[in-house]
Amino acid sequence: MSETVLEIHLPNLRHNYTFIRKQLSATTKLLGVVKAFGYGSDAVEAAKCLVAQGVDYLGVAYVHEGVALRKAGIKTPILVLHPQQSNLAALIEYKLEPSVYCQLILDALLERLKESNESHYPIHLKFNTGLNRLGFDSNNALELGALLKQNAQWLLLQGVYSHLAASDDVGEDAFTKTQLKTFAEIVNVFKPNFPNTNFHVLNTSGVLHFPEAQYNMVRTGISLYGYGNHPSIDAQLKPVLTLKTVISQIHTLKKGDTLGYNRAFVANAKTLTATLPLGHADGIGRIYGNGRGYVMINGQQASILGNVCMDMIMVDVTAIDCQAGDTVIVIGPNASAEHLANAAGTISYELITGLSQRIKRKVIS
Ligand SMILES: *Cc1c(COP(=O)(O)O)cnc(C)c1O
Repeated sequence: MSETVLEIHLPNLRHNYTFIRKQLSATTKLLGVVKAFGYGSDAVEAAKCLVAQGVDYLGVAYVHEGVALRKAGIKTPILVLHPQQSNLAALIEYKLEPSVYCQLILDALLERLKESNESHYPIHLKFNTGLNRLGFDSNNALELGALLKQNAQWLLLQGVYSHLAASDDVGEDAFTKTQLKTFAEIVNVFKPNFPNTNFHVLNTSGVLHFPEAQYNMVRTGISLYGYGNHPSIDAQLKPVLTLKTVISQIHTLKKGDTLGYNRAFVANAKTLTATLPLGHADGIGRIYGNGRGYVMINGQQASILGNVCMDMIMVDVTAIDCQAGDTVIVIGPNASAEHLANAAGTISYELITGLSQRIKRKVIS
């Protein structure tokens, strides 16, 4: 091996899918979130694998992400979490289901549907229950229900949903419960007139902590890729991504020598360093530099020394038996993305979705 490779382990994705399915009641549908290139993997590969497993729905953030899935031949319903007015034509052309989160989008969509004479178009209504990011106010539920009945020729209510702000944080359980209570009230408004609609409010940590709020659909992302926001869950999941690289060159620094840009590392004793071919342009941000982040070489932890460069990092191999050409594991089964991210004060979500498109992907089926 002579370059950096991101392996996408589909057997692990299948394992994680099965794990999440086991948490759900038999009638609960599963929406697999494949936004942001399938959390840094490969959206098409992840989506195809999930479809083969029987996933009910797919979710993406933006219209163009959904278009890419359709162009790859994926026929499964796709929810677009954050459609924008300028992309509604493409959304309709590719039969993507929009999250309708405000009057502006609702009006624009209705206008487009009427123009193109598209009837019974599937949509999901998004309510804000406390995240204060996107969504209608819960007080508008009655009025929106009436509006949908009135426009039944054009709009088919496929889903009513909301998103939790802190489902992974037990310290915020009281707040999460107020969100779930508000959502339950919204469900009660819609249920009588729209009994076949999918009600969904749980993400990964929601599924794990509030199984009673599954309703008939949940939306999971991070857990499918092997991380569950808790060590006991992580132990039962398998990371889909393995990020491997290689030692390009080894240098011996003597006391007083400096390393890398701005001479940020100063050797206070003889130090062996290994230069690796990945940097901040690959998604290993500068936050991982200066001793915060590390990689695994021959089973041992090697910290990142000095500043992360655009295309390279240098790591401390003083105590590690290694040579140029040896394999380096940055993320993998024994090198948790969650641990690495935490060491730099961030989370697995940011680390894996930030792995750039420059890194060669290798799918392992
Ligand atoms: C990203 C996202 C999810 C998936 O969340 P995970 O914590 O990765 O399971 C679910 N719902 C919405 C609205 C999202 O934006």
